[in-house]
Amino acid sequence: MTSPFAARHIGPSEEDQRAMLATLGYHTLDDLLAAALPASARPPGSLAGLPSPLTEQEALAELRDLAARNTVAVSMIGLGYHGTVTPAVIRRNVLENPAWYTAYTPYQPEISQGRLEALLNFQTMVSDLTGLDVANASLLDEASAAAEAMTMARRVAGKANRTVFLADADCLPQTLDVLRTRAEPLGIDLRVAPVTADDTFDGVFGVLLQYPGASGALRDLMPVIEAAHAAGAVVAVAADILGLTLLKPPGEMGADIALGSTQRFGVPMFYGGPHAAYLAVRADLRRQLPGRLVGVSVDADGNPAFRLALQAREQHIRREKATSNICTAQVLLAVVASMYACYHGPDGLTAIARRVHRHALTLAATLKENGLLTTADAAFDTIGVQLPGPTEARAALLRAAEAGYRLHDAGGGVVQVTCDETTRVEHLRDVVAALVGASMVGSGLDAADVRLSVIDSDAIPASLARTSKFLTHPTFSAYHSETGMLRYLRRLSDLDVALDRSMIPLGSCTMKLNATAEMESVTWPEWAGLHPFAPAADAAGYTRLIGDLERWLCAVTGYDACSLQPNAGSAGELAGLLAIRSYHRSRGDDGRDMCLIPESAHGTNAASAVLAGLRVAVVRCGPDGAVDLDDLRAKLAAHEGRVAAIMVTYPSTTGVYEETITTVADLVHEAGGQVYIDGANLNALAGVASLALLGGDVSHLNLHKTFCIPHGGGGPGVGPVAAKSHLAPFLPARIGQGAGEPAGGPVASAPYGSAGILPISWAYIAMMGAAGLRRATQVAVLSANYIARRLAPFYPVVYAGRDGLVAHECIVDLRRLPGGVTVDDVAKRLIDYGFHAPTMSFPVAGTFMIEPTESESLAEIDAFIDALIAIRGEVDKVASGEWDAADNPLKNAPHTAEMLIAGEWSHGYRREDGGYPGGHGARGPAGGRGKYWPPVRRIDQAYGDRNLVCACPPPAAFE
Ligand SMILES: *Cc1c(COP(=O)(O)O)cnc(C)c1O
Repeated sequence: MTSPFAARHIGPSEEDQRAMLATLGYHTLDDLLAAALPASARPPGSLAGLPSPLTEQEALAELRDLAARNTVAVSMIGLGYHGTVTPAVIRRNVLENPAWYTAYTPYQPEISQGRLEALLNFQTMVSDLTGLDVANASLLDEASAAAEAMTMARRVAGKANRTVFLADADCLPQTLDVLRTRAEPLGIDLRVAPVTADDTFDGVFGVLLQYPGASGALRDLMPVIEAAHAAGAVVAVAADILGLTLLKPPGEMGADIALGSTQRFGVPMFYGGPHAAYLAVRADLRRQLPGRLVGVSVDADGNPAFRLALQAREQHIRREKATSNICTAQVLLAVVASMYACYHGPDGLTAIARRVHRHALTLAATLKENGLLTTADAAFDTIGVQLPGPTEARAALLRAAEAGYRLHDAGGGVVQVTCDETTRVEHLRDVVAALVGASMVGSGLDAADVRLSVIDSDAIPASLARTSKFLTHPTFSAYHSETGMLRYLRRLSDLDVALDRSMIPLGSCTMKLNATAEMESVTWPEWAGLHPFAPAADAAGYTRLIGDLERWLCAVTGYDACSLQPNAGSAGELAGLLAIRSYHRSRGDDGRDMCLIPESAHGTNAASAVLAGLRVAVVRCGPDGAVDLDDLRAKLAAHEGRVAAIMVTYPSTTGVYEETITTVADLVHEAGGQVYIDGANLNALAGVASLALLGGDVSHLNLHKTFCIPHGGGGPGVGPVAAKSHLAPFLPARIGQGAGEPAGGPVASAPYGSAGILPISWAYIAMMGAAGLRRATQVAVLSANYIARRLAPFYPVVYAGRDGLVAHECIVDLRRLPGGVTVDDVAKRLIDYGFHAPTMSFPVAGTFMIEPTESESLAEIDAFIDALIAIRGEVDKVASGEWDAADNPLKNAPHTAEMLIAGEWSHGYRREDGGYPGGHGARGPAGGRGKYWPPVRRIDQAYGDRNLVCACPPPAAFE
């Protein structure tokens, strides 16, 4: 009844499912779901819209067919997206390697040292290249990084008399568009104009400059920065990461913030994403820095160890006071970019940049010799060519297109050509022939006849030439051979626990199988090689794929429209809330500025509401975890006429199908508000209930949870926003949007956000079909309940719904463990048993939230349960005094091999109880061979925050 693929995607066999059902006292999965789901949760009627399931081979064949409809031309469009060569050793061993792509965000640093090191390399690379002190470990894209810089500047310099953010007119157009979306709800007065040192900067709290400009023009920013500083404004510079190898870095020009994309460091264009953006700041602004920051601390033996620093900035803790709503970032792509820098090193990167620069100079000089003018005196990689008029410009684009090139029409008869790492001299000849042929000055110039000018020196003005060294840390010179890089990648990934090693039972994160057949097509050149602003005709395959996926997601959620643009759940939340805000305003209902959020909500919810210009009012939850209806009524009455929306998660983050969801929705609707259902928990609903029928008006989904896009160690993601028809006109960038139709502003740099990873979710749905999706949800719920039932005697289950059942995850209590043992101790002890800890202390402090997903086999689930039960036995040994309260395997966890073998064993328990607890450390039939050894002991978080090191420490630190 389910497809052959579904049978492989779903971990427990039919027989195992029956055994698990028996444990719970149900006969069938349908019985279980009927008992767990409230009567109001009706299945979506429209699942018939889903395809009948394909086998892996069929799905891949269809993807080949779709991909073949794309045309991969030579893109010289530029504008923040560039051709690049992903070194094959990095493509295969990072981008296509489950050890990297199936890892989770490194919240458990002891099992994440590999990716933390790679991210620290990324930060060091960015900090060196930008000339600023502290860089974060990636943001979603360049435009949203610019928006983060804007809000950061306001936190630093914004005052009542300073409400203007001034963006230079030569910023990337997509950046300006996203700034418009983001500025308005925050009451920021965004002005776009050519910014010069003569500006008075009246009322300006922040300035954004592009370096080089979107037009390719390169100018000395120092006078502008000085003038802006003199007027008290913060200056952010969006800089081309490759250009910075030749150009004076923003930090040395006095900029406070630098940002940009690292795409051209080996990450394919992917029709817009995913790519890692960077953000770097002066040291004194580091506590204002949004996003994740990797730092160096020490472990229990005093050895240096990496971990995420300044966690207090995270939205989970700060909620509506968070610096940003960003959660999922772009870790996998940041790793690729950092490894590209390691592989090429400072000299290799400079050589690439110089070649790109000289190609651009060759192009400019050759065009000049043929009578064409270029628009700027100084440039790095982009040449603006002035043709007699728009007609000639169009003719030039057409000629270039016929020869297989895509150039950018900058308006006013200017055609822009951008060179990149993949540019070859034949390309230059073809482009010159097209441009000259289309102009009035010459006609019929054949590419073969083009005599290219000879360029033998750079043409960067002395004042802008880079003189400082960068990437001097040995990491950037140690891995230039392929053997060296291969082993470095292997060594780092071996330090980590990812899904290719064991179950990762992180509640709310849905760490399920990322099937190889789903992943396989992502790096095909027909998907990976497309520029996001390529003509629509080039993207026919993408258009079909996106259309399918939008339709299918509408079918699954019951909504009418869907936008795939948001590149993370947080971005989807923002887009959905902005749609609600625009909807109210379109009806003249301008006074609605409150967003009600239950106290159990995910931290991104409140932070997103603030970014959407909404004030947050918290609604209490009852002892059962459900929204307290009395408090909701009271809040609705107190804020009558002002409630824009309620933002609820379903099933709630307490892991329960709340009975009251439809009542909540009705009450809010009666009060004139809209209902935002956070759909990140769709793994409990897909195929069994519809968000729309539960009363939602709009939701975001996380394709990197429910729909199998791997977490990548903390990104990429896709957070589509889906809505009922009345909100549809306010969603960003709907496909097939007619001219003149109202539309929400964009929230991402590219029209379809992280388009390049959409084939993963497409393949998942295509191979599962409606029945497969439904079965996956049922088994996810079965496994969560099985765990809850078996663990309950040892760790009380905090919340349960109908019939004592949970949804797709369960929260178990560790608050009252005897012997002074904490939730942290148990989390770290699980590492000794070979498991990744569940989500800790969210949404309830001192608890574990466990989500097995449908993909884990009964054997793996049982092994995990057995480990937790064994640990509970260990807790009793501490409580009874058999083990010392301070020196026991729980407090000392995790145990490294070094600790166990080094010198005298002085602890009050046996070595094997430390490293091979109860035989469980030796997972698998081959005895101890499957044992995971953490590379460091427990890491001291507080020490790291007090002694913040956010760039690679000198090698001597590791001696
Ligand atoms: C994961 C999650 C989010 C945030 O998604 P990101 O992609 O990390 O931004 C929001 N809400 C809930 C309930 C989640 O579990």
